[in-house]
Amino acid sequence: MFVKQLFIADFDENLFHTFVPPPNGLSVEDAYTKAIWHMWGERGVRTFWRCGGLGNRAPSELIDLMLKINSDLGKHPERSLNFVGNQFGGASASSIFTEVLIKKKLEILMSQIQRFPDGTMWPGPTKGALDFLRWVSEQPHLGLAIISSGHEEFIRKTFEVAGVPQPDFMVTEDQIRYRKYPKDIRDRVKPAPFPLALVHQWWLRKNLYGPSYHDGNFNNIASQERRRFVYTGDGTKDLHMALKGEVTFGMFTENSQGLEPEIYEASFLFNNWKDIVVVLAKNRSRLESGVPIGDILVREAGGRPMEGLRRRL
Ligand SMILES: [Mg+2]
Repeated sequence: MFVKQLFIADFDENLFHTFVPPPNGLSVEDAYTKAIWHMWGERGVRTFWRCGGLGNRAPSELIDLMLKINSDLGKHPERSLNFVGNQFGGASASSIFTEVLIKKKLEILMSQIQRFPDGTMWPGPTKGALDFLRWVSEQPHLGLAIISSGHEEFIRKTFEVAGVPQPDFMVTEDQIRYRKYPKDIRDRVKPAPFPLALVHQWWLRKNLYGPSYHDGNFNNIASQERRRFVYTGDGTKDLHMALKGEVTFGMFTENSQGLEPEIYEASFLFNNWKDIVVVLAKNRSRLESGVPIGDILVREAGGRPMEGLRRRL
């Protein structure tokens, strides 16, 4: 039987160096600062700094925190409706300001995605990432999903400029912020397991719709499917999401400056995507026969299975 498995990857600093500013350009943090300046001027920027800057937060999470710290900022959201569109009339101040922030910072960042005359691009791929992305797109037994607190438009354009095929599925801020539930935004973003649950739901709909979908073993089948996922990222939030979602986690360590203690909780570590290609290519028939992708990577990388994951499944 041919089994399809899923590689799930974080985007920022896992596949592309988005936190490295483009030459003579603006960093992500600069783009946020500029967008916030556009929205509220100096008082907004001061509040942004009091939050400690962006700190790997999703835009809606940042806006919620800023409005909590400085409630003055939440006044007169209606003045922004011209900028984001009248469909947001009646939306909460937080939703409207989140839209403004996203639209403004995306305007700034999207215009910077490009290939330079020397052949390099912004954002630059991480080590071996383009080889991996090209290779994985050619494997019928492997899918690719992205989980990112960034934006679909940005990720798609980056893939396009890089000349690699688009991922099969994405969960980004764009799929998260319009949801009513979970109510608390923190329950919807990393390190909460919710983004992984959305990927899982998509995967089940795509791959299990058939006789087995409605039989009594659905829960069993559904949780078994999770063993066919692996998730990689570069941060502690990625690690914790994977632990909570009970998905084998690989930590990408190209950027790590010294190993933080959390890194040791990862199931396997890697610093070059080519190593992933080598392991998965070598194990093609085992993957196709259903040996979980995480198990293969853990074993080959000399890592260890995730505690708890093994016990429960
Ligand atoms: Mg990241």
